[in-house]
Amino acid sequence: MKYADLHVHTFYSDSTFSPEEVVMCAKDKALSAIAICDHDSVDGIGPCKELGAKMDLEVVPSIEMTAEVPDAEIHLLGYFIDWQAGWLRDKLREIQISRIERIHKIVEKLKGMGINLEAEDVFKIAGKGTVGRLHVAQAIIKTGKVKNFREIFGKYLGFLKPAYVSYVKFSPEEAIGTILKAGGVPVLAHPGVMKKDELIPELISYGLKGIEVYHTDHREEARMRYEEIARKNNLLMTGGSDCHGLGKGRILLGSVRVPYELVEKLKEESEKIKAGR
Ligand code: AMP
Ligand code: ZN
Ligand code: FE
Ligand code: FE
Repeated sequence: MKYADLHVHTFYSDSTFSPEEVVMCAKDKALSAIAICDHDSVDGIGPCKELGAKMDLEVVPSIEMTAEVPDAEIHLLGYFIDWQAGWLRDKLREIQISRIERIHKIVEKLKGMGINLEAEDVFKIAGKGTVGRLHVAQAIIKTGKVKNFREIFGKYLGFLKPAYVSYVKFSPEEAIGTILKAGGVPVLAHPGVMKKDELIPELISYGLKGIEVYHTDHREEARMRYEEIARKNNLLMTGGSDCHGLGKGRILLGSVRVPYELVEKLKEESEKIKAGR
């Protein structure tokens, strides 16, 4: 059997892994394919594809984008996107700039809560990656003030927590529209983390094609619920580890895997989307 992990980050967003480390790790886990799904960035795709071609590992060009509604943040995966499209890169550059501006605001809020960080500390950790909350969390850990990620997100950085700052200009319709325009297959990431199942019909009306049923943060109960929702709505059931290298403590790559046939289905679906543009 051939397997794929369809949710992997690199250091072009908030993983600690370089493309080399991602590809070596995927080979080590005997995967046949991985999807590179960096937050608001396509920069890791080229290097991973190049290395993957040498190592006989298929790399699915993908992205993870964030949309917001007043009471939830929604992560959307886009599979087989036209990652080299100039308009997409321009759009992502804009988002990356608002992510940088957001860090300054988060750091100010944290100062008001007794956590003294400089934006520069966060940018140093992010390196060349799109900067985000995981980098802020890592900088907070370094201060020694708070011990673990759960506490940091629970008290400070989680959605609508006191140091949360939005950078997103996207409604779900715009995020799904962007993925479709790029010829990508839009899939709802880790709905069990979002905990807003009532939004799914609306997302489907905008063109959602799949649900990430299998994910590190989904227990058996969530898996069963999303399998049923996917089946009832005729959506693809995808899955991936959401590996951030050592960014979340433990290397997750390959710990969630789906049969390789799903890669072929996503590819077919993306070809239909591209033909219909
Ligand atoms: P950002 O791209 O800045 O919105 O940050 C997204 C990153 O923060 C992802 O890696 C998420 O896994 C992580 N994250 C968001 N919320 C939480 C949470 N409640 N607990 C742990 N990690 C989280
Ligand atoms: Zn992330
Ligand atoms: Fe996510
Ligand atoms: Fe992710």
